[in-house]
Amino acid sequence: MFWFIGGILAGVLLSCFVAWLVLLLTHGRTLWHAKEQFRRLFQDAPVAYQEIDRHGVVRRVNRAQCKLLGLEGRQILGRPVWEFAAPEEQAATREGVQRQLAGRFPPAPVELHCLRLDGARLTLEIHTTPIRGWRGHIVGLRSAALDITERRRVEESLQHRTEELARKNQELATALEAAREATHLKSRFLANMSHEIRTPMNGVLGMAELLLTTPLSLEQREYAQGVQHSAEALLGLINDILDLSKIEAGRLDLERIPFDPLAVVEEVRGALGAHAQTKGLALIHRAESRLPGRVYGDPMRLRQILMNLAGNAIKFTAEGEVVIVTRVVADDAEAATLRFSVRDTGIGIPAAQRPRVFEPFVQGDGSTTRKYGGTGLGLAISRQLVELMGGQLELESEPGRGSTFWFDLRVPKCPAGTVSAAQAATPSSSPPAVPPGRYRILLAEDNPVNQTIAMRILTKAGFEAHAVENGRQALDALAHGRYDLVLMDVQMPEMDGFEATAQIRQLEGALRHIPVIAMTANAMSGDREKCLAAGMDDYISKPVHGQQLCELVLRWAEHPLECALTGSASRPSPGTATSE
Ligand code: ADP
Repeated sequence: MFWFIGGILAGVLLSCFVAWLVLLLTHGRTLWHAKEQFRRLFQDAPVAYQEIDRHGVVRRVNRAQCKLLGLEGRQILGRPVWEFAAPEEQAATREGVQRQLAGRFPPAPVELHCLRLDGARLTLEIHTTPIRGWRGHIVGLRSAALDITERRRVEESLQHRTEELARKNQELATALEAAREATHLKSRFLANMSHEIRTPMNGVLGMAELLLTTPLSLEQREYAQGVQHSAEALLGLINDILDLSKIEAGRLDLERIPFDPLAVVEEVRGALGAHAQTKGLALIHRAESRLPGRVYGDPMRLRQILMNLAGNAIKFTAEGEVVIVTRVVADDAEAATLRFSVRDTGIGIPAAQRPRVFEPFVQGDGSTTRKYGGTGLGLAISRQLVELMGGQLELESEPGRGSTFWFDLRVPKCPAGTVSAAQAATPSSSPPAVPPGRYRILLAEDNPVNQTIAMRILTKAGFEAHAVENGRQALDALAHGRYDLVLMDVQMPEMDGFEATAQIRQLEGALRHIPVIAMTANAMSGDREKCLAAGMDDYISKPVHGQQLCELVLRWAEHPLECALTGSASRPSPGTATSE
């Protein structure tokens, strides 16, 4: 019995042992499989992995890590991990590793540099996790390294580009500032030049005009007219250069006043008719009958464009005709689109030169200047003016047969009954009738020649005039005598025209108001406004035309109130007065 029970027990124990053994073997195989799988995963992972022990020594490394460092596994294993960092980062890397082994992990992945065997410098982003023992304490570190060398290179070059862009922007801003300053200086230079040239021009033109009113022999008259024409040509050139610089500086403002387009074209034809006739050319104006009577726009600038186109047409045509055509190309209740064209039978412009003739200072060819004169500014200014008015200056030409320039302008129509300013401004051809000695004029002008001219013009017209040399003397004269009007130069020694006007206005108070007209060589943008803002009533720029001056003075002397109520009596026209 005892043996029987013992036999059963031994059998049970044996089966248990066999079962345990089978279990152990199965478990061991599973474990071996898991380990093998991990080893493969670790080795074949495309990410560079390595493991270090608690002393920082590399204990396991995968293929990707070997490839990354350009080393064999045996060259890595057994070495402290910081030895693979770039020399200047080894100390910091060692400290970092020790901190992590002590359980202090940085919040973000660490970035470090290392030198590959081939000498290439790599930038690596290291993600580290702890390896823990069975009691949970850190026994080593496992890290994955990402090669971010290329990313950093792109980022650095981007950063470099951004900095370069910022530097370029800064340079551009400085250049822009310098250009603005240069434009400002150029404008100031032009204003000064304009003033300096206009003062003697006033002398030349004024004296020639006065000379032509005296008894002269035929020969003397011819010479005096020669002086007058040359001075006018020079003045035209100065005005062209001023216009161009104003356009370039964006400081040319167009007027918007009522005018009759037909009258403007007729005026151009009238002004150039005699010249065309002397060349044996017919200057014809064909106008469509349904042209609107009054429109809004800038008649002086339109006149300037047409004068230039028709003047060129006459200049470059030896025989035949010059025809100005004005017609309506579109019409509605509010506005009309007018086409102005100037056609000639002249020398024409070769196709290659056509686009260039609109550039400043460009002429057809080298021989043009010698044969026909000119500066090459007219078309550049005309084109810009047409564009400012919202149109486009077009050209069609056939060498040897002639050219046609044309442009379309959309002009708002004026309500019926509007007074045409252009007509009101057109200077009359006969001298104004001044009742002799009725009006006393005070002239403040420091330049002796210009003083003589203005005095002669005024006294010849019938005004009683008294001249002083500066603003202070003008104040004295006004304190001791009665005057109907002051003609005030602006730039004068001791006291200038602005200061003198300010004092006049202060002294007379609210009860009296003597008209003060600026007569100045300042003809740049804003000069007119400056004079009016200083308390002057009107403005005329030098060189002054005798008849225009007398008409202006008479208007203010006769009807000061009316002139003050209707605003400026004088309308500047390009070429003679300010064009702002
Ligand atoms: P300018 O007449 O002072 O030379 P423009 O700017 O008015 O300057 O004209 C530039 C050039 O265009 C002229 O030099 C000339 O060669 C050419 N041109 C202008 N108008 C005509 C025309 N009607 N016929 C032939 N050539 C012309």
